[in-house]
Parts: sequence; structure tokens; C-alpha cells
Amino acid sequence: VLKVHDLVKSFGTAKVLDGVSFRMRQGEVISLIGSSGCGKSTALRCVNFLETPTSGQIEVMGNAISVSSGERGESVVVNAANIIRFRRQIGMVFQNFNLWPHRTVLGNVTEALIYVLKLSKKEAAEVALASLAKVGMVDLRDRYPHQLSGGQQQRVAIARVLAMRPKLMLFDEPTSALDPELVGEVLKVIRTLAEDGATILLVTHEMRFARDVSNRMIFLQKGHLEQDDTPEELFRNPASQAVRRFLSSVM
Ligand code: ATP
Ligand code: MG
Repeated sequence: VLKVHDLVKSFGTAKVLDGVSFRMRQGEVISLIGSSGCGKSTALRCVNFLETPTSGQIEVMGNAISVSSGERGESVVVNAANIIRFRRQIGMVFQNFNLWPHRTVLGNVTEALIYVLKLSKKEAAEVALASLAKVGMVDLRDRYPHQLSGGQQQRVAIARVLAMRPKLMLFDEPTSALDPELVGEVLKVIRTLAEDGATILLVTHEMRFARDVSNRMIFLQKGHLEQDDTPEELFRNPASQAVRRFLSSVM
């Protein structure tokens, strides 16, 4: 589903990602972990080109985009047309939900179905209700975001992504803006998606959850990939002092 090869991202002189490579197969759940500032969000954002990599190659469902640095250090993007295709196949859930405040729950989910996928209102409502059912939000379909708890808002944001039937879902700290008592309901939804076979790349500080739900965990340290292993192996056999220290600080 996803191949990331030699991904480099610099902001000015700061190299935030330094040659990251990994692959994801369909149905896999991979957690990206590492201390604050190690480049997790930047890596996710490069995968769907919210951020243009400085260099490297990204392939989604067989469509590749390569980026190399030009003579003046500028990014030269090959196959930029694939960016639109990437975005259609990748859904992203952010820390802060990003719902449209003036649309109801149902309206938030149908919006892209109507305007991007060109479904009729009736078809869009059917698809939307099916994905709202998956996150347990059908009953609140007529509420506005400000009338929902953070956990409920995040579940709507997940339903909105799900309705687009993405081949790959990216989650960037989906629970870190939530009050502790609301974290569980969102993790439960993500777990259900994983069990249903969704392909998920997840950035999270919920280490127990990541260990439970992931097929692999990737540890980033200052922009380079330090370890890519099953959770069992990562916890049993940390590849370096940095991994060991991180795990003991969060568990
Ligand atoms: P956290 O766990 O705190 O979310 P992270 O691993 O997601 O951290 P990133 O957000 O990817 O880290 O940031 C990696 C580094 O890149 C940080 O040092 C950050 O300051 C820097 N950075 C990120 N975005 C930009 C930007 N647009 N311009 C300049 N520097 C940036
Ligand atoms: Mg981040």
C-alpha cells in the first residue's frame, strides 16, 4: 500500500527527516513513536504531501512520486500529478479534529462525499450514516460540533475519513487533545478499524495501545529510523539506548 524510500525533509538548515524508509502492507497497523520533535508529524505530512519532502520517494497503491533536490537546493517533484491521487486514497485524522463548525455531524461527513466524490445527497447520507454507525455517532447526527465532547468530535472526524474509503489512514496523535476520560472511546474506534482490516499509520503517545494494536512500531530518533520491529521485539530488544530510554520513560 505504502512505500517510503529515503525520505529527507529539511526546514532551512535543520534536517528533520534524514533518510527514512519503510513499507506498509494492506491491513497493517504501524505506530510511529519517538520523543517530541523527532519528526513524526513531518513524516506523516510528507506521506500525503501536506508537506513537500526535500528528497525521497513515496509510493501509494503503486503510484510513485519522487522528489530530488535541484541545483539551487529547491525540490524537484516528479509525477506531481499523483499528489491528487494520493490524497484521494489517504485519509488523515488530526489532533484537533478540524470539523466544520457550521455543519452538523451528518453535514461534516457528507460534505466531501457530495463535493469530491459527487454522490447525490441521498447516497451521501447513506454512506455517511454507515460510517457514523461504525463510530457510534448516528444518534447525534444533527448536532453541531460545539455541542459535542472532544471524544465525540474526534469520532466524527474519523467517520468523515472513513466515509471516503481511504486505502490508508493517517492518525496524528488523535487522542492527545482529549481529556483523559475521553481517550478510551476514540482508541476503541481505532481498534475496531484495525480489526476490520484498515491500513493505519498512527502517531501516538499511548504506548500501551500502540503495543496492543500495531503489527509494527517504528522508532524515530532525530529524524532517522532507529528501529522498525514488531512490538514484542521492540520492547524485548530495544535497538539502542535511545529506544530503551524512551520506552522506559513512557511505560
Ligand atoms: P511532537 O511529538 O512534539 O508532535 P514530532 O515528532 O511530531 O513532535 P515534528 O512536528 O515532525 O515532530 O517536528 C520535527 C522538527 O521539525 C521539530 O524540531 C520542529 O520544530 C521542526 N518543524 C516542524 N515543522 C516545521 C516548519 N514548518 N518549519 C520549521 N521547522 C519545523
Ligand atoms: Mg507531532
